[in-house]
Amino acid sequence: MIYKFNLNTEHENFYNITSYVRQAVMESGVQNGAAVVFCPHTTAGITINENADPDVVTDLLYALDKTYPHRPQFKHAEGNSSAHLKASSIGSSATVIIENNCLVLGKWQGIYFAEFDGPRTRTFMVKVLRD
Ligand code: ZN
Repeated sequence: MIYKFNLNTEHENFYNITSYVRQAVMESGVQNGAAVVFCPHTTAGITINENADPDVVTDLLYALDKTYPHRPQFKHAEGNSSAHLKASSIGSSATVIIENNCLVLGKWQGIYFAEFDGPRTRTFMVKVLRD
């Protein structure tokens, strides 16, 4: 089973998509297995991180900006190479274990769609695998 979601992003940010992934798992009826969350874009990614303190996301965005600043030496004509670098750094998927039809996440964990190049209309997919 594969579930496809659309997301309109306003700007570079981490968008909490945990509820969408939970919805896909519930609809699938799969009791035990895994959910693969995948982003089919080259300037956005998927990651799992803290969902309690919003300053964590702020700090992640700050640190990614410091690590991958725009550089005049970049050759990519679209001008968004730093967004491509951040997306590769974060990765394009995450896998979460499913137990008793629930996502097995840590108390402070959320699943994020990481936008590095908004505003855009984005898509992400959830593939629910049964044991
Ligand atoms: Zn590009």
